Amino acid sequence: MSARILNGNLLRDQILSEVKSEVAALSAAGLRPGLAAVLVGGDPASQIYVRNKTKACDQVGIFSETITPSASTSTDEMLHLVADLNRRDDIDGILVQLPLPSQVDAARVLLAVSPKKDVDGFHPVSLGSLVTKRPGLVACTPAGLIEILKRSSIPIAGRHAVVIGRSDIVGKPVALLLLHENATVTICHSRTADLPAIARQADILVAAIGRPAFVTREFIKPGATVLDVGINRLTDASEVRRIFAGLPEKLTQFQSKGTLLVGDVHPKDMVELAGAYTPVPGGVGPLTIAMLMSNTVKAARLRRGR
Ligand code: NDP
Repeated sequence: MSARILNGNLLRDQILSEVKSEVAALSAAGLRPGLAAVLVGGDPASQIYVRNKTKACDQVGIFSETITPSASTSTDEMLHLVADLNRRDDIDGILVQLPLPSQVDAARVLLAVSPKKDVDGFHPVSLGSLVTKRPGLVACTPAGLIEILKRSSIPIAGRHAVVIGRSDIVGKPVALLLLHENATVTICHSRTADLPAIARQADILVAAIGRPAFVTREFIKPGATVLDVGINRLTDASEVRRIFAGLPEKLTQFQSKGTLLVGDVHPKDMVELAGAYTPVPGGVGPLTIAMLMSNTVKAARLRRGR
């Protein structure tokens, strides 16, 4: 039987259309949600990320504003800026696009964002709410992973979920969300002994590592659901040939663009062994922006007690 593709683009569209209806209802009541994006300097990748986020705001009717301090901004300037956004009533969500320039204390800036407007879910108060299952804002990518499973009717309760990666923004929060959904959860990392044997026990395998095609066939139990969070940009032709051997269309894509995206899971092994999987691109990535929109609406509701 061939593996089921969990199409992130379709799920994103579904979520965005639901968010759009909610925004219309809130706006009709005079409470249009608003998102402020802070984009420092001219990093091209950050510019694209922020543009995609504000485009999504336009699509669903969320008010958005992009603030662009210069690359020479200071920690104090950034703290003032965030304090101002915390006070503004028309702003429900504050997004500080990372990375910040080295002279800025990024941890202090992120800590200054009001937890009520922390639509990225990075603030320790948001993480604490997640641990204790209190209402709050959950990091977008982990929240998106749960949406993928639920909207695809993949059972979570009682299943063994193995999460490879323990970062504060992906691995740990998704492990907690899976736990709250009553999965039995194992978290793995770079010091885990015999990682393939543990991964192979997973009914749901989440790879959030940041290493191209690291998870290969010996990690995957046949029929498992595999969620590949990794986004790795390949620029080395020999690596592309090694990973995508036997897939001439991928090699052609690489030749025309000079780069190619690959996840943390080996694409061919995943297709051959998984029962269901998220492709890269077009799997987990699209959900992240959809969940940011959903979080902005949630922040607007929570802040106004609705
Ligand atoms: P981090 O670098 O913060 O964390 C990586 C984790 O992987 C760490 O916990 C690390 O372990 C673990 N790891 C690294 N090497 C190994 C190894 N050899 N064996 C086992 N575990 C290992 O990354 P992020 O969590 O921020 O991101 C992970 C990936 O997800 C990246 O590719 C990133 O681009 C992508 N991403 C995608 C998003 C999306 O929207 N789709 C959003 C966010 C991230 P240790 O703690 O021991 O060092």
